[in-house]
Amino acid sequence: MAKCSICGRKAIEKIEYARKYLCSKHYTEFIEEKVRRSIRRYGLIKKGSKILLAVSGGKDSIALLTILSKLSKEIHFKPYVLHIDLGIGKYSEVSRKIVEKAVQETNLPLIIIELKDLLGMSVLELAKKSGRPSCSVCGIVKRYLMNAVAIEMKADAVATGHNLDDIMTFILKEFLQQNLDGITKLVPRIDKINEAAAAKIRPLYEIFEKETLTYVLINNIEFVKEKCPEARTNTLNNVLKNHIHILEEKFPGIKYSFIRSFLRNIDKYPKLYMEKLMKCCICSLISSGTKCSYCKLTEKTHGEPLGMYTRNYIRKLLTGMDYQGY
Ligand code: AMP
Ligand code: ZN
Ligand code: ZN
Repeated sequence: MAKCSICGRKAIEKIEYARKYLCSKHYTEFIEEKVRRSIRRYGLIKKGSKILLAVSGGKDSIALLTILSKLSKEIHFKPYVLHIDLGIGKYSEVSRKIVEKAVQETNLPLIIIELKDLLGMSVLELAKKSGRPSCSVCGIVKRYLMNAVAIEMKADAVATGHNLDDIMTFILKEFLQQNLDGITKLVPRIDKINEAAAAKIRPLYEIFEKETLTYVLINNIEFVKEKCPEARTNTLNNVLKNHIHILEEKFPGIKYSFIRSFLRNIDKYPKLYMEKLMKCCICSLISSGTKCSYCKLTEKTHGEPLGMYTRNYIRKLLTGMDYQGY
């Protein structure tokens, strides 16, 4: 392997699009600097703000936790970690342990929501009872809980571990399905909507999937290696992601130029979904109809919508946690 372009030590990786070789120390700094720049470029985090980090235990959100924990000391913001224990057998047990360990090492406050405790059912049981696919139930529950926790603790934003490959995959998928409205949500930051939807930020917006993996591996950071046993493999998302990877290998830099041009054009896409948004009649959180998907789902599985119950459960969980003063 060649030598690091900065210090001359043994390089561990070649960054094709930047035309340089880097050693592990300079690779780590390079990735952290990219995140720092995205935060600045897109105005993601302000000094003094409270940021809820949604951490599943996978490589991306574990990298997010590690990097934002470091940057919080520089930018002076307060990170909190949220982990949702979905109750998917061994997979969820391992994920929770990994997040707990990472949190111990970074010394950040941790909020764990255990679905079995909250609803008396795991994601799989909810899926069975509602007759809906488990991935769609999982998505509804996760999105709802992330938003509800952020609202209850008055966080300034929820940060997720979506990387550039994820975002580009979603954009291409929405384009193929001509869901141009959905495309407008795939930006680095979505602002808060009243007290119904917390702001959402994606600090790894410009980081490649391969880069979060290399980052955690070279820094010996533990992460969940198994895929969720429920995840299907032959999905449009997976096929698109593989092709995006091949595109970047053949044309280094194409992912960057795509995402930059995309953001320049973002105002040209219709933003119709904004007009359809309303507050759920049960829980008052964001909804695209009179009742939100979570209230509709729990109505099916429990005989009554549990949005308001869930908000109260979260409120109680947060009481006693020093989530305001920290
Ligand atoms: P996914 O939808 O599983 O691809 O995950 C996208 C992002 O959502 C991750 O990068 C995390 O930030 C967050 N996330 C996913 N699963 C969980 C979980 N069980 N607990 C907390 N955050 C999660
Ligand atoms: Zn070096
Ligand atoms: Zn609701």
